[in-house]
Amino acid sequence: MAELQYNSALLEGVLERLGRVLGPADEFIPLHIPEFLGDERALVADCIDTGWVSSVGKYVEQFERDVAAACGAAYGVAVVNGTAALELAMKVVGVEPGDEVVMPALTFVATANAAHHLGAIPHFADSAEGTLGLDPGALRAHLSRIGEARADGLYNRETGRRISCIVPMHVFGHPADMDGLAAVAIEFGLTIVEDAAESLGSRYKGHACGSLGRVGAVSFNGNKIVTTGGGGAVVTNDEALARRAKHLSTTAKVPHRWAFEHDEAGYNYRLPNLNAALGVAQMAQLDERVAKKRLLARRYIDGFAGFEGGTIFEEPAGAESNYWLNALLLAPGTAEGARDDLLDGLNSAGYMARPVWKLMHHLPFLADAPRAPLPVAEDLERRIINLPSSAMLAGRT
Ligand SMILES: *Cc1c(COP(=O)(O)O)cnc(C)c1O
Repeated sequence: MAELQYNSALLEGVLERLGRVLGPADEFIPLHIPEFLGDERALVADCIDTGWVSSVGKYVEQFERDVAAACGAAYGVAVVNGTAALELAMKVVGVEPGDEVVMPALTFVATANAAHHLGAIPHFADSAEGTLGLDPGALRAHLSRIGEARADGLYNRETGRRISCIVPMHVFGHPADMDGLAAVAIEFGLTIVEDAAESLGSRYKGHACGSLGRVGAVSFNGNKIVTTGGGGAVVTNDEALARRAKHLSTTAKVPHRWAFEHDEAGYNYRLPNLNAALGVAQMAQLDERVAKKRLLARRYIDGFAGFEGGTIFEEPAGAESNYWLNALLLAPGTAEGARDDLLDGLNSAGYMARPVWKLMHHLPFLADAPRAPLPVAEDLERRIINLPSSAMLAGRT
């Protein structure tokens, strides 16, 4: 009974603050919906009018340039979705079947799927409460314990497999501690592949996310900060890697006027011109979108100031986050079950809310994957909920 009262007090408290930030939920307020305020209609119509709807067309190239520029990278390769981008990113830095790929347990399943599709094995590491991303200190300790340096790289002495790269993910748009992770990567001879799917427009110490590692992957799924319907991009400053990603994504076809020459097993991962057209119009709104998201986050932070039930997660020092999704971090020690009661209550009241993703090793098909101790991720999994975060909500009240 005591717990029941506590839970309903938590719900009432959150509802009262949501009312302040978003106004009443007369109509159901979704978690995140896209916004089309630019030339989307005209550019998509242009594809139809000219017949260039598919795998070649001027919007693909323009979109690639726009995405690269936004990520502070020299090259961008547009692909069908963020998962494909991540898979190609890992492939071009040399991830081989049977390799282990270090990634946070606290991520969306796409990070693990991308490695899995390459025949690699995800290896889960813990997160830092201050960034929600990979914790460099914990990772160093873990790799020092299980890692063994050999001539061709770092090996996991417990599994006998090579560990080939680290894949940090910028959770909800908040940059991970990339300096700390770069130091660990150098120390252990590992490459950094950035899962920047959620962090287009975010900055870490002034540098755009996406180009903080050797290669990065961005997503343009419908729920991301800007969208191509479905889409993704590989971004990098390394010309050779970009060329290879483009080549692999386009059936590894050797350029020729008419011959079908393919020099390896490629993929059909290229982004159609139709989607790229939508993307060009969306990219033109990125800065404005980030500004709105940051304003909404500010409203949440102010609206929940002094709230005993939890705090709105704020960007780490030195970072400028795109605040893709706002997160309420429930107070430490929040009673077991309180989170789900809260989610039930919020969704019933018309405010869409969601838990953070289930940790990767809690998914049945990844339960046996190698992993570090994950005390912080386990704690965060029980305490994080996401709140409505569409950019237009910044102008609601
Ligand atoms: C969205 C997302 C991806 C890629 O998603 P797609 O839906 O394939 O575009 C990858 N990693 C993370 C963390 C994501 O949130």
